[in-house]
Amino acid sequence: MARLVLKFGGTSVGTIDRIKNVARKVKQEVDAGHEVAVVVSAMSGVTNQLVDYVKQVSRLADEREYDAVVASGEQVTSGLLAIALQEIGIPARSWQGWQIPLITDDVHGKARIERIESGDLVARMSTGEVAVVAGFQGVSKDGRIATLGRGGSDTSAVALAAAVQAERCDIYTDVDGVYTTDPRIVTKARKLGRITYEEMLEMASLGAKVLQTRSVEMAMKHRVRVQVLSTFEEAAGSALPGTLVVDEDEIVEQELVSGIAYSRDEAKVTLVGVEDRPGVAAAIFGPLTDAAINVDMIVQNVSEDGTTTDMTFTVTKADLDRTVQVLEGARDDLKFRRLIADSNVVKVSVIGVGMRSHAGVAQRMFKALADRGINIQVISTSEIKVSVLIAEEYTELALRALHTAYGLDQA
Ligand code: ASP
Ligand code: MG
Repeated sequence: MARLVLKFGGTSVGTIDRIKNVARKVKQEVDAGHEVAVVVSAMSGVTNQLVDYVKQVSRLADEREYDAVVASGEQVTSGLLAIALQEIGIPARSWQGWQIPLITDDVHGKARIERIESGDLVARMSTGEVAVVAGFQGVSKDGRIATLGRGGSDTSAVALAAAVQAERCDIYTDVDGVYTTDPRIVTKARKLGRITYEEMLEMASLGAKVLQTRSVEMAMKHRVRVQVLSTFEEAAGSALPGTLVVDEDEIVEQELVSGIAYSRDEAKVTLVGVEDRPGVAAAIFGPLTDAAINVDMIVQNVSEDGTTTDMTFTVTKADLDRTVQVLEGARDDLKFRRLIADSNVVKVSVIGVGMRSHAGVAQRMFKALADRGINIQVISTSEIKVSVLIAEEYTELALRALHTAYGLDQA
């Protein structure tokens, strides 16, 4: 017997039949003797619709009222699931964020959870009542409904699991786990049995959209064991059918590289012929920082003549136009000869905590890409990740080559 938090995403509660199916899954855990809290998203498509309603009324809507509108999708599914559970003989009640209460800061639209006063909820759970919690929402300190940012019900679930000291937080979704890479591109991709928090954080922020990044940060901070699994597949006997996101020491045999992620969201900027003198990097990146533009990868070329050099870096595609504008505006100061903007790039990253203790990981990547004639434009590394920027048309080829090179292919 354990205390569990189960989270069901939008597609899992997308129709009335699916909500009834979720109720049956919850019943299985209750019948197994567990104390259960369920966190639900809005039915798929509903939050988008609600956001759209707000925009039709005002482009610059009051964020508190925006939250009042968009939080409502989860109110509906929490009530419906509680009813569906009661219908099959399981005591259940819905909990809105303000009823728990789940208290947030006052950054409406993307609020952060400050604390969860879970005493009442836990007391009701211990009587055998299932708590059905509306995800994505809480109450700000000024007493207004607040939402946690898109995809935020993952974070609701992990935070609740930490607050009630759940043994595990099961995130039910439409994929059956976390894969070594995107299985739509690499058919030999494998589902991982386990992955560390740090690796998952890199995978999530690099575009593997299984979990909201903030939920992984939260799980890592509070050491919440998270399982990602499918709502739509019956687990054939195995106790933990999905991917478990856990602490490093829970992983016995660590692969060198656990996963390969990619992001098409990058754009490359090159400043040709900037002065090679102290302070030039600060002069370039200062105005970008002031404009709240995040720079990711950076290379400065060696200076051929000792007086000028080229500087290349990446920003998100969404920030590219503004970046060009800011740099053109600072042209007199920076004195570059030419500015080249290129959005036809992709960032490919190999990720693994195993590379902390092994040399040669990056070299294997460079060789695999070189063997396919793929030119590397920019490189960046961290303790558990090597990223390269390449031309976008090589995305598929690069992913497949790297997947094979690191021995990740499914037999
Ligand atoms: N319903 C919200 C959204 O679509 C929260 C979530 O599903 O996690 O962003
Ligand atoms: Mg989601």
